[in-house]
Amino acid sequence: MVCYREGEIVESFAMGAGRHSTVFDAEMFALAHAAKKARDIYSLGNISSIHFFTDSSSAASMIVDPSAHPAQLASTLFIRHISHILDSPPHPLITLEWSPGHSGVTGNEEADRIAKEGTANPSVLHTTVAYIKQRANQSINEAWQRQVRGLAKTEGTKLLEVYPVSRIPTAFFKSTPREIFGRITQTFTGHGYTGEYYKRMHLEESPWCPCSRDNPDAPILMTRLHILQECARYHEHRHILTEAVQDITNPTWQPHLLAKPKRSLPALAKFLDKSGAFTKLGIPFHIDLILPPPRDPRPP
Ligand SMILES: [Zn+2]
Repeated sequence: MVCYREGEIVESFAMGAGRHSTVFDAEMFALAHAAKKARDIYSLGNISSIHFFTDSSSAASMIVDPSAHPAQLASTLFIRHISHILDSPPHPLITLEWSPGHSGVTGNEEADRIAKEGTANPSVLHTTVAYIKQRANQSINEAWQRQVRGLAKTEGTKLLEVYPVSRIPTAFFKSTPREIFGRITQTFTGHGYTGEYYKRMHLEESPWCPCSRDNPDAPILMTRLHILQECARYHEHRHILTEAVQDITNPTWQPHLLAKPKRSLPALAKFLDKSGAFTKLGIPFHIDLILPPPRDPRPP
């Protein structure tokens, strides 16, 4: 932490954060400590404004949050010092701003330099809640990864070979409409509106693809590969897939390879949206398709 007054450094301080705390803790307690220093300097008089800068956007938003969170103590201390300053005449202007890190900002570079020097200082923090939460999340993730690696290879688990497991929803998940994401999941698991699924589950629906309707002597089983690679009903939109996945027509290609997050997954989403593949009727989804028909008006 470094403190300037009219362009001159008047205070700098570095504390060790120890091995049982997080970067977030260090940022939060640095702000709390800066508030204490600001209070001391303000008490000397002749100050009309105080500005806090941090390169941690999460600390900038959490330091003024008094509710329960992993670094609540730092917030409580910060708010207490700031309240004391604001209550004391001449009631200065106080701002708290985010400043980009490692971008040549003078005060930020100086604070970084001092912080590096202070890493060997004795720790002022005991084991923190943020650290315990971080460790708990790590061990849950590791246990989950071990479990995933030990799963039997099935049609459903093949997906995990190309799509990394994550406890945080991906940007793709958040930006994809729910109906499309549902069909994507069905495409990978094989549990969807396909002939192979109807057969496997002994359902009454016809397992034959409508594209072979004109040739009942040579019906084509409506498999995922048939829909993705060759079905005439989707010729118009298949280029969306083939442009992103060059090997899609290879005999050894399998649908789970579409789960590669970079190019093929967005292409699959677009293909499903435009073509309507893997919907019950095989036509682009529209909300009217799932709404119940309007009721007859009641007799007078
Ligand atoms: Zn077909």
